[in-house]
Amino acid sequence: MAEDKDLRYDPATIELKWQDRWASDPKLYAAEPASSKKPKYYVLEMLPYPSGQLHMGHVRNYAIGDALARQMWMRGYNVLHPMGWDAFGLPAENAALKNNTPPRQWTLANIAAMKRQMLRLGLSYDWATEVTTCLPEYYRWNQWFFLRMYEKGLVYRKKSKVNWCPECATVLANEQVVDGCCWRHEDTKVEQRDLEQWFLRITAYAEELLQGLKTLEGWPEKVRTMQRNWIGRSEGTEVDFTVESRPEKIRVFTTRIDTIFGATSIQLAPEHPLVQALTVSDHALAAQIAGLIDEQKKARESGDMGEIEKHGIPTGQIAVNPYNGDLIPIWVANYVLMDYGTGAIMSVPAHDERDFEFAKKYSIPIKRVIAFADSKAEEPELPFTVEDGVLVNSGEYDGMTCSQAQELLQKAAARSAFGEAKVIFRLKDWGVSRQRYWGTPIPMIHCERDGLVPVPDDQLPVILPEQIEITQQGGSPLGRVPSFVNTTCPKCGGPARRETDTMDTFVDSSWYFYRYTDARNSNAPFDPATVQYWFPIDQYIGGVEHAILHLIYSRFWTKVMRDLGLVKNDEPARRLFTQGMVIKDGAKMSKSKGNVVSPDDMVARYGADATRMYALFAAPPDRDLDWQEDGVAGVSRFLGRVWRLVTKHAPQAKSVAGMQDLEALAATVSFFLGPSHKLLRKLHQTIAKITQDFEGRWHFNTCVSAIMELVNELQDADAQLTAGEVPAPVVLELLQYLVLLLAPFAPFLAAELWEELGGHGSVLRAPWPKSVPGLAMEDEIEIPIQINGKLTSVVRVAAGANAKTIETAALSDEKVRVRTSGKNIVKVIVVPGRAVNLVVK
Ligand SMILES: [Zn+2]
Ligand SMILES: [Zn+2]
Repeated sequence: MAEDKDLRYDPATIELKWQDRWASDPKLYAAEPASSKKPKYYVLEMLPYPSGQLHMGHVRNYAIGDALARQMWMRGYNVLHPMGWDAFGLPAENAALKNNTPPRQWTLANIAAMKRQMLRLGLSYDWATEVTTCLPEYYRWNQWFFLRMYEKGLVYRKKSKVNWCPECATVLANEQVVDGCCWRHEDTKVEQRDLEQWFLRITAYAEELLQGLKTLEGWPEKVRTMQRNWIGRSEGTEVDFTVESRPEKIRVFTTRIDTIFGATSIQLAPEHPLVQALTVSDHALAAQIAGLIDEQKKARESGDMGEIEKHGIPTGQIAVNPYNGDLIPIWVANYVLMDYGTGAIMSVPAHDERDFEFAKKYSIPIKRVIAFADSKAEEPELPFTVEDGVLVNSGEYDGMTCSQAQELLQKAAARSAFGEAKVIFRLKDWGVSRQRYWGTPIPMIHCERDGLVPVPDDQLPVILPEQIEITQQGGSPLGRVPSFVNTTCPKCGGPARRETDTMDTFVDSSWYFYRYTDARNSNAPFDPATVQYWFPIDQYIGGVEHAILHLIYSRFWTKVMRDLGLVKNDEPARRLFTQGMVIKDGAKMSKSKGNVVSPDDMVARYGADATRMYALFAAPPDRDLDWQEDGVAGVSRFLGRVWRLVTKHAPQAKSVAGMQDLEALAATVSFFLGPSHKLLRKLHQTIAKITQDFEGRWHFNTCVSAIMELVNELQDADAQLTAGEVPAPVVLELLQYLVLLLAPFAPFLAAELWEELGGHGSVLRAPWPKSVPGLAMEDEIEIPIQINGKLTSVVRVAAGANAKTIETAALSDEKVRVRTSGKNIVKVIVVPGRAVNLVVK
């Protein structure tokens, strides 16, 4: 069928026209001040790293947030919907090396390019609140927070391991270590070196970070579980074992103090101080220990300590069990880590899988101290790791349950001062030092006389020098800039050196969403009153890859800011949504696989509306989406049908002045006879479905299909619409509401058609349609009929039928007539819309 040329949907023309109009109206997406009478809604998508190009994962993330923001605006909320740039980080330095472009220039050009893409996609961001983390007006507040934390004792320095390439003579980030070698020197082994590093004391908040997860009911359970495991709280006991012929004591941590009578060896981490002491005079042992350290390092690099093949070395030393005086050998084991617990464990092979495996391998005795609670039961097979047994071979504790014994053993240790109850966490303090250039300078000064001196607030920001040559030379890049390094000590006025480490970029993203509320404030990170109005974030949307680090760090930052009196909320975000990935041909998109789909290509071919709407339509938002170009083409054709349908019937719709009370009109008989009723019913069912979905499940894919079904019905009724069989007020409602329903998903087309239909003002401020239950109701409903309380039959009646009509229908039902023939119907009880009860004698 040849299409009328004038009736061709042309997304490029429509979208560029509206992009221009929106750009000339900076107030359009601006949040109202806190004095606004409207309820507030803060919807936030995670800010991107400015790589220079959006990928489809971004488009999907932003399309979800944008649909939500638009719908909330239409529902009358005061919406804050900002965007910014996580703009520090290593790729800018790599690009500088490769292309000889200064990191700042490279980054800002990338930001400009991505912003152009976002504008072309029609995303509803308030650019007046844009935050760029690599600019001094932002990172000065990183420095300010760092100093506040330093004052509170939440910042400290300690020696810590870094990756060191001897060839580059510099520190490498973890991602620059490839198979244990330098990314630039494939055959140079990366060494671990001890370097003074800055840490934030996140462990001070470990318990609160854990407990707070209980309040985050709007977060996915999987994210809460991942955080819980990352924090890794264990309750247990610390106990001191003395060493038979030496002055040292060994403190072990155990969660199973009830099994201590079954301890048959002590296992130390290779880096345990006692091991270090023993190796001073024993070179053979020192060499063996070095081997264990090496194995541990390899296992850490491969990322899976749990899979390490267990090795141990006996030290020849003997430990004494403080409870019963048992003498047990002291070993060093590669699976014991110095940074977990105390770096020493008691090995109870009868009741621990790992200890059992180790004891079998090295023929260490196995002593059973827990039995089944039922005394008649057989001996349990070892290792027997349950905690609901009773103690045996444990002296005065025999016969007690595990939990009773745990409590009493803990008390005994405390009484005799050789141990105590202890809660430990797997969570480590946050190492924020980076020996890199493109990050926030740490605002500290080293003075020979005064030691560490914080930079005074009035000297902030410590500006990152921009004219810098990025080379492969050794050391921290800032260390090679004399004008940066050499300064005067704020305390004594003498010559001093600036700290040359920069901050981990996770610092930038830990609080950026607070800055959006007051992005141009030059006196403070933000105004606390404004933050109090907007926080917590109502809906945060991003990838599940940020479930742990970013989301734990930003929760920590919020709690610190709360304790500084800056915010009142305990948690940054009320609800969190993690969207699925965009894949192609079943695999993650990547350049090496050649399956990358460029958003620009899709927009050029099908328009921004079709690209965005497809990203929402092709899968539920929490699932992975396998990108199919056919699907985008299909959505584009659908939008073309909407465009033709609305443009064709717009003149008829516009012949009425405005919306009328259709519920009242619908009550008249003529409505039920014509096609109007059927169309209005479909419309109001669609409104109800989409409204409900926005509130809960976010299955935008089914929302889009509901709109498609509605459009199908409208097209099927095209002849009737054309013939004027549907009254103009109904046509107007059908078309305007269709456009409003489409607005969160295809904002350009919706704006165009809203104007076409003579809609008032911006479609963004048009009220979200309400579903009228009377109109959404189905034609007929089923009513069950009971005789003397027993279900006998079911009749179909018109929805909304009155009691008399229902009674007549019930009494004329075939089954009812058979059951009641020759009997006396004493009573008929009709519950309209629900049931009929007959009492028969
Ligand atoms: Zn190297
Ligand atoms: Zn000084």
